[in-house]
Formats: sequence, structure tokens, C-alpha cells
Amino acid sequence: MEKSNVLYVGEIFNELKEIVNFYNEDNFNINFLEDKEDKKKALEEAKYLLTGNDKITEDIMNAARNAVLIQNTGVGCDNINLDYASKKNIPVANAPKSNSIAVAELTIGLILALYRKIIYFNKTTKAGEWHMWNLRPDCFELNEKKHGIIGFGEAGKQVAVRSKAFGTTVFYYDKFKATKEEEEKLGVSYLSFEEIIKTSDILSIHVPLLPETKNLLEAREFKLMKKNAIIINVSRGGIVNEKEMYDSLIAGEFAGGALDVWGEEPVKKDNPLLTLEQVISTPHIGAGTLDTMKRVYQICFENIKRMEKGKRPQHVVNEVETIALS
Ligand code: NAD
Repeated sequence: MEKSNVLYVGEIFNELKEIVNFYNEDNFNINFLEDKEDKKKALEEAKYLLTGNDKITEDIMNAARNAVLIQNTGVGCDNINLDYASKKNIPVANAPKSNSIAVAELTIGLILALYRKIIYFNKTTKAGEWHMWNLRPDCFELNEKKHGIIGFGEAGKQVAVRSKAFGTTVFYYDKFKATKEEEEKLGVSYLSFEEIIKTSDILSIHVPLLPETKNLLEAREFKLMKKNAIIINVSRGGIVNEKEMYDSLIAGEFAGGALDVWGEEPVKKDNPLLTLEQVISTPHIGAGTLDTMKRVYQICFENIKRMEKGKRPQHVVNEVETIALS
């Protein structure tokens, strides 16, 4: 008997196919929508939809009329129309904790790159220039800096641990305050949103994109920031207002930033932020490690296996009245 049909909806490349197939220990019948000439048929036959950052729209869900689960291969599910999935009683699951270490390591990497101007020094040294001395007054250590973490979930906490190892004082802001024990264990303290913006030398953003977090940091917040402060956004584009970030950096209201995620992806070539030396840009690679991919696909296939055995899926992020179990 052929194992259930899993359809990967999204951009695909050979290495990813290899990983997906490698972790498919139960030999589910995996198809990749990009490869299919008859996409309508492929969607219609799919029982499980796997997706990365690609949009799962009403049209896709209507076409996938036999789907019993949409399994996201990341944490943030803003690419999926969750309300419509609920309306159709399709559970949407994510892969929590799978990528928080990769995100945290990238966050620290970006802070170090900004503080030590690594991108600039790489470019100029390779071009035959030798800036051994002149930029030292503009380079900094993390040691003794104040690091404000906005969004203290899995990624935020992993960032806290790593940042503290560099000697920072770590503050956090989240809509839910951590317990006293957790604060003590991690050596962090809570600040209000406004206080964390005003206090931090380094601000890193780790909240999901939701209606209430859209433009969470815009002109008002940039004006409150310290002049030497930097912003790292590795959560979602749209949380930091890019146009106002540019204006504020030009006005010298804060010092610089690193954006891994953008309001529009791929980021447009003429986005003014890409012209600034004090801004580092990366193409949504927060979760982009082999280690993360392995963890992700273990979680995803475990969920599919559960459903095949008639068990409820784990990590469901939307509301559903009933779940179609085998
Ligand atoms: P998580 O769910 O563990 O943590 C999110 C935290 O944000 C929670 O503590 C939650 O309480 C808090 N939060 C939610 N709404 C808030 C609000 N309005 N104000 C303050 N706090 C709020 O998720 P995570 O694993 O820490 O990841 C965080 C986000 O990072 C994800 O939602 C995803 O969008 C993004 N992400 C990006 C990449 C990347 O490749 N750059 C990779 C993984 C995750």
C-alpha cells in the first residue's frame, strides 16, 4: 500500500529535497509542487501540506481539498491564512524550538559584525586598502553593553544566554512576563516597552508578525533610542518600519542595524536601506542551518506519523473544531 501523500508547497532545491527525503524514514510519498506540471491535481491528491515561508492562501487550501494538516517547517506562521484554515477545519502546526539556536547565533553574529565593522573591513581589505587604525573609535565590545530583547520566547531566551556570555546586561520585554525563577536562572530583568527602547545599546527583535506587532518600531521609537544604539531584526519584516528606519538613520537618531527579514521578500534592489554602510542585510537566513533543517523535518514527520496513527497532531497554532484523524 502506498504511504500517504505529502506535498511540499514552496521553493525547492536539490539539497533540501535530499534532507526532506533523508528524514522521511516512514517512506511517505513525497511530492514537490514546483516539480509538478499538473499543480491542481497534486494539490487535490495531497493529504499533508508541508511549507516553509511560502504563502498558503485560500486558493491553495480550496485546491487541497483532501488536506488534513498544514505543517509549517518554521515557527512564524504569518505565511498561512490561519483564519481560513480554521474555517476549513484544517489544523496548522509549526515546528517550535527547531530554529531558535540558529536565530540566536545569527543575532550575535550580526551584533559582532556591526560592532566590529566586519563587512566593511572584509570589503576594503580585499580591495587592497588597509584600515588598521582609523575606525577604532567607531568599533565596540559587547562587554558591559545593555542588550534589550523584544519578544522573550524561544529565540529571545537563546539570545539572552549567548549575549550574557559576552558580558552584557540583558533586559527583555514581552507581553508575558517570565517567572522570577526563570528571570533569575537566565540573569535577565523585565522592562516596559518604552524603557527597553530608551535603555538599550543593542535592541534585538524576536516577536511574531501580528496585527499588533506591525510597525512596532517606527519613528516614535527611533527617536527614543540612544544615539549609539543598534537594532537587529531577525523576526519578521514589517515589525520594523523600513522607510522610517532609513529616515531616522540618516538623521543620526541611532547608529545602525541588521535586517534579516524584510517587508517585501526578496527585498527590492532599490530599497534605500541597502545603500547604507551602517546597515547589514541578509536574505531571511535566521533558521538557515543544516542543524536546524534536520530538527525541523524530524518534528514535521513525527507529526505526520502521529496523524497516520490516529493521534492528534502536536504544535497546532490555529483553532479547529474537529481534526480529521485516520
Ligand atoms: P516564540 O513563539 O517562542 O516567541 C515569541 C514571543 O513573542 C513569545 O514570548 C510571545 O509572548 C511574544 N509576543 C507575541 N506577541 C507579542 C507582543 N505583541 N508584544 C510582545 N511580545 C509578544 O517564537 P520564537 O521561536 O522565539 O520566534 C520568534 C519569531 O521569530 C517567530 O514568530 C518568527 O516570526 C521569527 N523567526 C524568524 C526566523 C528567521 O529565519 N529570521 C527564524 C525563526 C523565527
